[in-house]
Amino acid sequence: MGLSVVARYLRQLKDVLHQQRTLLASQVYLLYREPGVLSGYRMYGKSWFYYIVSIFQINNETVNIWTHLVAIMLFLKKIWSYADEFHYYSDPESWPLLGFGICCLAYATLSVSAHTVHSKSPFIHYTCFQADYAGIGYYGIGIGIIVFYSSSHPDWFRYFSRVFMPLNVFLGWVVMLGCSMAKLRYKRPYPFRRKLLQLCSGGMHAIVVALPLQARYTECFRKTGCSLSTLSHHTEVFLVLFSSLFFFSSHFPEKIWPGKFDLVGQGHQIFHVLATITTLKQFDAAYIDITKHRNTLITDKADMFQIVLSIILFAFISVITILALRPIVKKRVLQDMKDL
Ligand SMILES: [Zn+2]
Repeated sequence: MGLSVVARYLRQLKDVLHQQRTLLASQVYLLYREPGVLSGYRMYGKSWFYYIVSIFQINNETVNIWTHLVAIMLFLKKIWSYADEFHYYSDPESWPLLGFGICCLAYATLSVSAHTVHSKSPFIHYTCFQADYAGIGYYGIGIGIIVFYSSSHPDWFRYFSRVFMPLNVFLGWVVMLGCSMAKLRYKRPYPFRRKLLQLCSGGMHAIVVALPLQARYTECFRKTGCSLSTLSHHTEVFLVLFSSLFFFSSHFPEKIWPGKFDLVGQGHQIFHVLATITTLKQFDAAYIDITKHRNTLITDKADMFQIVLSIILFAFISVITILALRPIVKKRVLQDMKDL
């Protein structure tokens, strides 16, 4: 019995490996086509197994998948490395690092899942990317957690301690819903309005999670003898983050040179790499604040209950949102099937 199951899977693996043929953009639904990417598309309507095996094949999603698989390993290594110094179960200074780490693992895992199986069908495509947008929401919530509890200006922390985390979760949901609606509303080739809607919903969250830091920049700017270089660990994060957003929104370089970056070098792949570097730098920035600036900051007031509740609540809200959007997705899929 056991041997026959293994034999069946080996047969399936052989079949799938034989199906390495990829398609041209003109052979797939308009929905799957990316600007400037002319080939390397996987076939649609295949088994789940086909898409899982495609991780190890060469197609135009391989680099997207592997950049975030490597990111997952790097994030785990980072979280593990802090365990030498902090006791995660009893040390409030370490809880934001752990909360941020869980949110980052969530965004990278959801991204890997979306890029792996989204080509299976138009319905799965939309559902996968809604989960991917929930991942972006998770990332924003994680940044909120780590900035608020590890790097906030003390006054800001005191004034906003009651409202910040509920607002953080709400804005994470706004990002998810904004990105999902933008994808459902516009057809490929997407107008810039779609990216604008995505960037605006994300921008609101970014501004709110940056406010606890802005107070430190303002204070340092006004205070004589304070050098902005004392905040360079945060400035570096902003610089890499903005450059990643450029690649996220521009489809550069493939839009300028169509067909030249079908497999490697697409703007979205560069965005994945820069997002990973940003995340690692955010871990480092919080660690510097916790260890070197703890005298001027409040780094031991993290509320584990609020952190855990935010992470669980957002998962619950995301699932409800995906289920609530199903009728709109079904209607949209019927329109997309006509656009081959
Ligand atoms: Zn992606």
